Amino acid sequence: MRIIVVGAGIIGLASASELLRRGHEVTVFDPAPAAGASRAAAGMLAPTTELAWGQDALHPLLAEAAARYPAFVAALEERTGLGTGHRRTATLAVGVDAADRATLAELATLRGGAVRRITGSEARELEPAFAPAVSGGLLVSEDHQVDPRLVTAALLAELGSRVRLDAVAAVEREPGSGRATGIRSASGERAVADEVLVAAGLGATLIDGVPRLPLRPVWGDILRLRVPDAIRPLLTHTVRGLVRGSAVYLVPREDGELVLGATVREGGVEGVQAGGVLALLRDAERILPGIAECEVVEVLARARPGSPDAVPLLGRVAPGLVVATGFDRHGVLLTPLAAELGSDLVEGRDVAPAFSAALDPFRFGGTGVADATVASALSVA
Ligand SMILES: Cc1cc2nc3c(=O)[nH]c(=O)nc-3n(C[C@H](O)[C@H](O)[C@H](O)COP(=O)(O)OP(=O)(O)OC[C@H]3O[C@@H](n4cnc5c(N)ncnc54)[C@H](O)[C@@H]3O)c2cc1C
Repeated sequence: MRIIVVGAGIIGLASASELLRRGHEVTVFDPAPAAGASRAAAGMLAPTTELAWGQDALHPLLAEAAARYPAFVAALEERTGLGTGHRRTATLAVGVDAADRATLAELATLRGGAVRRITGSEARELEPAFAPAVSGGLLVSEDHQVDPRLVTAALLAELGSRVRLDAVAAVEREPGSGRATGIRSASGERAVADEVLVAAGLGATLIDGVPRLPLRPVWGDILRLRVPDAIRPLLTHTVRGLVRGSAVYLVPREDGELVLGATVREGGVEGVQAGGVLALLRDAERILPGIAECEVVEVLARARPGSPDAVPLLGRVAPGLVVATGFDRHGVLLTPLAAELGSDLVEGRDVAPAFSAALDPFRFGGTGVADATVASALSVA
């Protein structure tokens, strides 16, 4: 089949790669590949520490995706000869005060055997640079990390000239049947397709011919630091901290980069918010004082493509038209599963009923309207 993928974030790229390997003719359109939410993401693959009350539909998806990750990255690395920064080091979830410890204890109750409770001293044995204030936590062996910038770079290298630097203005639909027949790009180019897969993150709501979906921008501020040689390794595990109830994480890369994130805000400035950065640095220092010695390499804000229940919107919305968006704060982890399910849908295959019901783009009924907050959030990227 001739397939057009709209959007070259991690979801669109991985789906395009999967479809290519299934033997289809694939073209991807994006004016700024891998520069949206995927560029900001820390790359935590965290089915356990992302566990939250009331998200029952989400967790089976996160667990399925996590199980696929080792094979997904190994195959990508083998095909391209490029690294993905996949690290299977355990994650440490730590708290500072009694309320933080109580929150972590709840997580331990939810996940049972997948986590081990540790004392403050055990945490400091694992991470000697921790502050004395770290008073206990959990060792989570199944939460890992990948570097999303390396993953998207490898996928872009694999797809090569199949990625076109042009935005899609409209998905063209046949009058009457409503069948998608191709796209019209912002530069006026028309391209025909047997199937169109819209994986344009927040941008999906702004494309003519695509049903309006209930997406909203969920902003995140995030920093990238460099640990000076003299104090390396400052940290070896991914750390998810709770500091008097506020969440912060630190993700150490092999090359000495330390990712410090991330705020979650639905308002405020459309760019890096000073108060957010201040809070992240202050909370991170309560856990890891050495952070103050690091070089700030980058401060970035991007909007996550949020859905009402934090579960993606992935499904067929018209003949010839599939959408894959709404990945919110879990898109990097969900990538291998999204690529597989999206490709199955494009090929007209059945998807397990439990998945298709949870992901149904119309599960909130009707269609929303493209709104101005989405348009201006996108203009930042
Ligand atoms: C600060 C932060 C930290 C995060 N950390 C994590 C994490 O640790 N783990 C995790 O799993 N997830 C994380 N996420 C979430 C993750 O980044 C997203 O869920 C994921 O990147 C979504 O991927 P996507 O491809 O759907 O969207 P995007 O990466 O936003 O890509 C969408 C693409 O579509 C393109 N596009 C838009 N409109 C059009 C159009 N009309 N025509 C053509 N192209 C178009 C855009 O240019 C963009 O490249 C984080 C997000 C943020 C902001």
